[in-house]
Amino acid sequence: MRGPLVIRLNYVVRAPFRRRTALSRRAVFARDGYKCQYCGKPADSIDHVMPRSRGGEHTWENVAAACRRCNLHKRDRTPNEAGMILAKTPHTPRDMAWITTAVGRVPEAWKQYLLIAS
Ligand SMILES: [Zn+2]
Repeated sequence: MRGPLVIRLNYVVRAPFRRRTALSRRAVFARDGYKCQYCGKPADSIDHVMPRSRGGEHTWENVAAACRRCNLHKRDRTPNEAGMILAKTPHTPRDMAWITTAVGRVPEAWKQYLLIAS
């Protein structure tokens, strides 16, 4: 079924609360641009920066998209111990990130209406 890509509303719809983006595999990939945060290749796994076996939590600040190869190489070490460098420090995505999570990828036509940093 075809539908419009953009709908203009005549009044502002206020969200009743600010939702925090739920931590999921898909959401982590979206936040990290579907790229391994160690080598830049397509990511297909989630790495816990501080390994869970060593008390690392399953939180936005401790997860990063990674490729299987880097994940296997890193094992239960920190990036520093493994001699690996994260592309960026993991953070909780801003509110708008849930849109990316919901639709997978944001169409070009939407970007002028959204405050999404690329
Ligand atoms: Zn990698």
